[in-house]
Amino acid sequence: MNRLDGLDGRVRVRDDLADLTPYGAPQLDVPVRLNTNETPFPVPQPVLDDIAEAVRGLELHRYPDREALELREALALHGGHGVEGTWAANGSNEVLQQLLQAFAGPGRAALVVEPTYAMHSLIARATGTRVLTRVQPRDLAITPGMAAELVGDAGAEVTFWCSPNNPTGEAAAPDVLAAVCQAAPGLVVVDEAYGEFGSAHAVKLLTSFPNLVVTRTFSKAFRMAGVRLGYLLGDPAVVDGIRLVRLPYHLSVLTQTVGLRALAHVGTLMGHIAATRQERERVAAALAALPGVGVLPSDANFLCFSTDQPPRALWRRLLDRGVLVRDVSSYPTLDRYLRVTIGTPAENDAFLAALAGELA
Ligand code: PMP
Repeated sequence: MNRLDGLDGRVRVRDDLADLTPYGAPQLDVPVRLNTNETPFPVPQPVLDDIAEAVRGLELHRYPDREALELREALALHGGHGVEGTWAANGSNEVLQQLLQAFAGPGRAALVVEPTYAMHSLIARATGTRVLTRVQPRDLAITPGMAAELVGDAGAEVTFWCSPNNPTGEAAAPDVLAAVCQAAPGLVVVDEAYGEFGSAHAVKLLTSFPNLVVTRTFSKAFRMAGVRLGYLLGDPAVVDGIRLVRLPYHLSVLTQTVGLRALAHVGTLMGHIAATRQERERVAAALAALPGVGVLPSDANFLCFSTDQPPRALWRRLLDRGVLVRDVSSYPTLDRYLRVTIGTPAENDAFLAALAGELA
């Protein structure tokens, strides 16, 4: 019995949430964890020392700056965008939630193009937004014309476009994104959680399309998944909309301070990206050389690959060998696929050896 059924009918979760299950990848204590796309490289000690010093001086008895202005100014500088159109929250998931609360919700719809990041549709549902789903065929590269037709036909108030896409890895071409922005009848949210690992960035389109919002995170390339900090770049009117739904003081003084220190050390923190890209190409080539394995091209810090084995059983056997990857086989068009995060060279070798052992 579901524990929610035990409330003797007086306390009922919302009807539209009753068939949902909580989202989340398993957090297992195994030697090689390559299932949630964090960077494997910790924050360097001098940066940690600087953060510790900054935190020591904080006035924790006071509320934080509700507008997080200093942090937003630094983010705006980093993103090459105006501060009035820059907003931050607790992870890019909270940014997405705030966008849906302000611009979607009951009576409105959000479009997701599957296979993509599951939280887009889950947060939409949690905010009472109707979810419209379209499926992108696996073997057909999307053209600007196809994208425009798809988005125009759906007619959603919010259109999600994940680039590089999770879990497949490919970045959308700039002309596809421009076509999406042009054709969408509402807000277009380009989720660039993995943007730093690729070279195509939607920020260049912001001046042409006021209905475009780009969301980013400190959880991946910035090495700070534990901090919970994400941000958006968009039109100042979008930020005004978010102010209507954000909780007062939503971003703690600790988060704002750590974010500011991170931006002061951005070069050091991002220093691993070249190595991560190189490892990605090495792992992709090694995967492609294994019997029966196909690898999707990736602009991110993970690879999505297919095998000729049942994916769930293979996922389990890799786990038995101490390697945790992501089973993405329940996503549309990915029924033979698993996803692996690019780790340290040693972790990647352990993954490749475990997989080779299983496929031999
Ligand atoms: N977008 C995408 C595509 C992601 O994969 C993730 C995390 N896995 C997020 C957003 C959310 O990240 P966070 O809330 O940590 O910023």
